[in-house]
Amino acid sequence: MDKIDCVVVGAGVVGLATARRLAQAGLEVIVVEATEDIGTGTSSRNSEVIHAGIYYPAGSLMARMCVGGKKALYAYCADHGIPYRRCGKLIVGTTEDEVAKLASIKAHAEANGVDDMKTLTGEEARALEPALNCVGALLSPSTGIIDSHAYMLALRGDAESAGAAFAFHAPLMGAKVTTDGFVLHVGGDAPMEIGCKLLINSAGLAAPSIARAIDGMPADRIPTAYYAKGNYFSCSARAPFTHLIYPVPEPGGLGVHLTLDLGGQAKFGPDVQWVDKIDYAVDASRSERFYPAIRRYWPALPDGALSPSYSGIRPKIVPPAIAKQDFLIQGPQEHGVSGLINLFGIESPGLTSSLAIADEVARLADVRA
Ligand SMILES: Cc1cc2nc3c(=O)[nH]c(=O)nc-3n(C[C@H](O)[C@H](O)[C@H](O)COP(=O)(O)OP(=O)(O)OC[C@H]3O[C@@H](n4cnc5c(N)ncnc54)[C@H](O)[C@@H]3O)c2cc1C
Repeated sequence: MDKIDCVVVGAGVVGLATARRLAQAGLEVIVVEATEDIGTGTSSRNSEVIHAGIYYPAGSLMARMCVGGKKALYAYCADHGIPYRRCGKLIVGTTEDEVAKLASIKAHAEANGVDDMKTLTGEEARALEPALNCVGALLSPSTGIIDSHAYMLALRGDAESAGAAFAFHAPLMGAKVTTDGFVLHVGGDAPMEIGCKLLINSAGLAAPSIARAIDGMPADRIPTAYYAKGNYFSCSARAPFTHLIYPVPEPGGLGVHLTLDLGGQAKFGPDVQWVDKIDYAVDASRSERFYPAIRRYWPALPDGALSPSYSGIRPKIVPPAIAKQDFLIQGPQEHGVSGLINLFGIESPGLTSSLAIADEVARLADVRA
């Protein structure tokens, strides 16, 4: 049986960043991925936004890792030639009541360390985006967009250059805790057993079920998985915006917002649809809720312009009644299994936070370099 330092389960953006971090610190790393390639899960079903860190509860892992991860990610993109744009985002108040909420959003962002937010009058916002209907707005200059696939390819390249190996079609089926680590049973095309000292469960939506498949992992430390789907609609009309446009958040979500890809193409979403199983089909009838929501800030959205595009599923670990969750990064101190780190509930801003999450895993694993 092969025996190595570390196995990372899952080749999404977080597993890749973690494999890179640990391999560069000198560990022998194998990444086992159930599907045929890197980034086939939630990491290719998101908005590709580099978030500033505005809304997350003060002191939360999300707040800390988003702000730290954003800085690290911009530096990484610049160093590695990853396409990105610091396009900025406007949070738009369309009524006096909404504008009154902008001050507390700004104060909250500042408490999280986002110190570049600017308050704009309606006129100032329209000077930036003439098509906008708004009474007042907040500008977040450090919000941006990224080519997440180029980013993941670069992470994989770095990890491989540092000696990490990748096994595809290689689902982790189960694991046993031994005196000096784990024995893993990997299925798929070439079933195998691997021994390792450090096991990183970075399986995204499947992280709770992977944890349950580890013989020795206390069941009462494993969160229940819930799924909150986010549907996107593309826009056939040219959306004349250069910033990302967000409404004032509503309870349970950020509201139907406009994001751009690096080609300038607009998409709207994601909305929030709690589902029982993983199914990425987008129900076209959901666009009925999008039109009035978008027209509040972009009245010129033409009839019939929206088409179902794609969806992603948020790996929730709290039920619908509890709106907010935090990342749950569990090391041996929380669950008592030496050498195991579980990454649960890595929803947005997981892409932005990926390099910071990798640093946190290294810290919990006591990897110093
Ligand atoms: C709708 C939506 C929009 C989002 N928008 C943004 C955004 O704009 N900005 C941002 O920062 N974040 C965003 N996020 C969050 C971000 O996409 C995720 O946090 C991030 O992609 C999570 O990466 P991951 O590696 O943890 O999970 P994943 O990408 O899901 O990777 C997990 C991997 O584990 C593999 N796997 C599963 N089971 C096994 C097994 N048994 N054995 C081996 N491998 C296995 C899967 O195949 C998959 O490849 C968004 C998320 C959603 C859902």
